[in-house]
Amino acid sequence: MTTIEDVAIIGAGLSGLTLALALHSQSIPCTVYEGRSAPEDIGGAIVLSPNALQILDTLAIYPSIKHEGYECETVVFRTQDDQIIDAYEIGNEEKYGYKALRIYRHIIIRELLRRLSENHIPVHYGKKFLRICAETESQVTWEFSDGSTGRAGSVVGADGIHSRVRQYLYPQVKPRFLGIVAVAATVPSCLVDIPRGYHLPAIIMSPTHPGYIIGSQHPDASEVMLGRQARSVELDRDGWDALIADTRWCIDFLSDGAEGFPPVIRSTVAHIRSDRLNVWPFYVVPRLDGWASDRGRVTILGDAAHAIPPSSGQGANQVFEDVWTYALVRGRGGGAPSGPALRKWSRGRQERIDQLLGFAEEMNRRRMINTSSVEKTYTTCSMTEYLDLEWVFTPDYPQMVQDWLESSGP
Ligand SMILES: Cc1cc2nc3c(=O)[nH]c(=O)nc-3n(C[C@H](O)[C@H](O)[C@H](O)COP(=O)(O)OP(=O)(O)OC[C@H]3O[C@@H](n4cnc5c(N)ncnc54)[C@H](O)[C@@H]3O)c2cc1C
Repeated sequence: MTTIEDVAIIGAGLSGLTLALALHSQSIPCTVYEGRSAPEDIGGAIVLSPNALQILDTLAIYPSIKHEGYECETVVFRTQDDQIIDAYEIGNEEKYGYKALRIYRHIIIRELLRRLSENHIPVHYGKKFLRICAETESQVTWEFSDGSTGRAGSVVGADGIHSRVRQYLYPQVKPRFLGIVAVAATVPSCLVDIPRGYHLPAIIMSPTHPGYIIGSQHPDASEVMLGRQARSVELDRDGWDALIADTRWCIDFLSDGAEGFPPVIRSTVAHIRSDRLNVWPFYVVPRLDGWASDRGRVTILGDAAHAIPPSSGQGANQVFEDVWTYALVRGRGGGAPSGPALRKWSRGRQERIDQLLGFAEEMNRRRMINTSSVEKTYTTCSMTEYLDLEWVFTPDYPQMVQDWLESSGP
């Protein structure tokens, strides 16, 4: 009789919890260990695109969160004098099966935890992973910061951008700061001057100031999020904490030059509250050669493997692709980890991330904010053709996994 080996998942963020559910759907037992003492209730809303919603639908999460987010299909680009000059799709029910869903992260986490509990999948809080002690032919042992140890058939590091599990595979790799922080505020939309029929979300560009992104949140659009990106030197943890606590700086940065922007921006800026601010320094993980150990018993995924620039709008969405395809690979292997299969999986995943980074660059070209390029935009752009985004939004995951596993090479 084959014994299906259990999986230890480190981290109860979006990737860890979704992975637990995905493995459960493949009849692979797992346990989640989270360093924090309680479920995460921080961070802002994220935009889920059709490629992630397809997975959350398959896992029966989407129907129970859909009504708690704001649905939208297109982001428009506007000039400082409020002319729409471009647009691109972030979802489309007719073409891709789903509208994009802007939703608070804690809602998805809450729903995932509810489903894990229903399925008796254990989640242990206050268990901070420290290091892998040994990986053998049949199991992995590791140590927690409280001195206790664990043992499982395999370990998956879903422990975010500063992953400790990654240190086992890549002791020298450190996340790289992109020199940019995003500052965002949320404001009740009843305080914002939004003209009738005004399309949100919108990116409003300026030849003289950093542009804004503004979008609706909550199913009834009762809140708007206003964000802007600032250049920054890298700070240490205390430095970032101090910046986040410096609400005066955040508000001043969001307000700087707002008088030259349309009323929707001016009225939002006028109502920013110091307790509704968020600061997000942009880090990426350098491109890694693979995400699994030779034996395949230690793997990383999600932000631990590939935190990618936010301009792609795909950071969280790629997390769902990682976990779903990982579970499909494990399911096809009868539940046992296989080094060669997981190498093919991580190569296939990395190729897709690379394609998405190319896509992000294209988006960046459209979000140009330096003076010369904005002038160019103003003079040459009319509404561009929609990009062909089927490859982003409607992947056939089982086929993708099959193609990877049948591919040649190590
Ligand atoms: C403010 C903000 C806004 C964002 N907006 C968007 C967006 O609009 N669109 C988008 O696509 N993406 C967005 N992202 C990115 C997206 O949220 C991430 O890509 C995604 O959350 C990564 O999920 P993850 O589970 O891999 O990592 P994380 O969410 O970082 O979760 C990792 C978990 O592991 C735990 N952990 C860490 N170390 C240990 C340890 N040693 N032992 C045990 N547990 C540990 C952590 O406590 C955490 O719970 C945003 C991120 C932030 C911060």
